[in-house]
Amino acid sequence: MLSCDWPQVGCTLAFAGVIVLALSSAPAWGAGQAIGIKHPVLQRNLDYDDPERYEKAVTRVMGMSDEEMLSFVPDKPYICFVHCPNCHGGSQGFQGYEWSIDRPDELKCKYCGMVFPNDQYPEDQIESGQNALGETVSYTYYHDQEIDARISHSGHILYPRRSWIVYQCRLLGEAYQVTGKPEYARRAVLILDRIA
Ligand SMILES: [Zn+2]
Repeated sequence: MLSCDWPQVGCTLAFAGVIVLALSSAPAWGAGQAIGIKHPVLQRNLDYDDPERYEKAVTRVMGMSDEEMLSFVPDKPYICFVHCPNCHGGSQGFQGYEWSIDRPDELKCKYCGMVFPNDQYPEDQIESGQNALGETVSYTYYHDQEIDARISHSGHILYPRRSWIVYQCRLLGEAYQVTGKPEYARRAVLILDRIA
């Protein structure tokens, strides 16, 4: 029995593709004719009279170094379903853990409160495989012998970290649109480039 579905290879790349398409400045063509596109393509109903709100929203990410910020972009797909080896709560569930940018390297079980990673349930096993590009991808995991399940919190935590940085990228884009300050665009581009 596996405690999780090993990830769909390429979902990160697919996401990046969507972003690139959404932001592409190249003229679009349909039925042999160019389609007029007004930028920004996505209308977000921004309040241009309140730039401080948008700048405040990116204070956290702008306070990071480039390296720290980009560390939130996963280098491999996340693992969806991971249950708690301590209480077995939320088995096969996707929302069994709390995550916060204040403690970005930890997952907290919503059922028993145990924080992972910890020494009681060490990820001392490793599983490797190849992705669609032929690259070797590895995940460490704890083997729950009670129910013969592989539990990879290190793989699961990629999901909230990825969600956070994707949201920050959107906020950076909005801050740039409203203020015109290039430092916000630069950070957004760094994130998109890393994802691509
Ligand atoms: Zn638990």
